[in-house]
Amino acid sequence: MPMGEFDLIARHFTRAPRRRDRIALGVGDDCALLAPAPGQQLAVSTDLLLEGRHFLSTVPPERLGHKALAVNLSDLAACGAEPLAFTLALALPRADEAFLAPFARGLFELADAHGIELVGGDTTAGPLAICITVLGQVPAGQALLRSGARAGDQLWVSGTLGDARLALEAFRGRVALDGDGFEVARRAMERPEPRVALGLALRGLATSAIDLSDGLAGDLGHMLAASGTGARIDVDALPRSALLVRQPREVQLECLLAGGDDYELLFTAPAALHDAVRAAGVRAGVALACVGTVEADPGLRLVDAGGQALAARFAGFDHFSNPA
Ligand code: ADP
Ligand code: MG
Repeated sequence: MPMGEFDLIARHFTRAPRRRDRIALGVGDDCALLAPAPGQQLAVSTDLLLEGRHFLSTVPPERLGHKALAVNLSDLAACGAEPLAFTLALALPRADEAFLAPFARGLFELADAHGIELVGGDTTAGPLAICITVLGQVPAGQALLRSGARAGDQLWVSGTLGDARLALEAFRGRVALDGDGFEVARRAMERPEPRVALGLALRGLATSAIDLSDGLAGDLGHMLAASGTGARIDVDALPRSALLVRQPREVQLECLLAGGDDYELLFTAPAALHDAVRAAGVRAGVALACVGTVEADPGLRLVDAGGQALAARFAGFDHFSNPA
């Protein structure tokens, strides 16, 4: 390696902690020392990203740095936790400045936007892999869980869904997008914005929440299973971009329901709190769409705006893997 492991860490991943109130000791010793505020629980989440499986080799390193942290912050957002710090375990084929400098730039730009510090990690030679662990805090007992959805609650989604999946299909050559459209979709896939402010604004309002990483249908399934409930979704109410609206309906549905990499929040709240939820969205600066209702009957029922059940049961509906 042209640059040793310790030089690499010192050069790219070591900065003096800016939040001395929360970070008593950062990078450089055997452990970092954190001081969560009294009365708070620590919220901890880890995501491992492998080239070829979780990101394409075509992703610019700056966006990869952003995304690796963003997907972790998205988990804190889903719990209504306030981010404090993170660790970074990195396997790299070689100490490549042309990769490391922009990767660290994208990473720290997002860290700075959320006022959090990199407090430690591990670095080794190997096939490119990025593992981040985020630490956050949430007042004891106030974390948003997957298990709290109750029959009668409204189902909400933030932002728009499906553009990241659309980009993936464009990379795979299965949909054609014009140059501008491709860039919009690609940005959604490579540079998701974690909904941290929304997660915080939903404390005390949402009965349950999950972040959308594997597609709405699957992630909603996790929430419903954890809550012991079912749900009805109006697929025509699912929020989508101007780009996705121009696609054929079956492509829209596939991207909306089985998308993946959306990193929006899906949450439930009592119907009586509808206006308060709207206000929370405004406070957080994120568009919210009310897309359905939690029901006592287990299972997911997909209907259109007219209330008609969707012809194809979604479980068997995979436009891209079974092209007609
Ligand atoms: P150890 O031998 O105790 O695992 P290392 O030599 O691996 O320690 O790391 C030295 C210091 O550098 C530790 O404080 C560790 O947390 C930090 N560190 C290592 N790799 C990274 C990285 N990629 N990002 C941030 N800190 C790192
Ligand atoms: Mg180590």
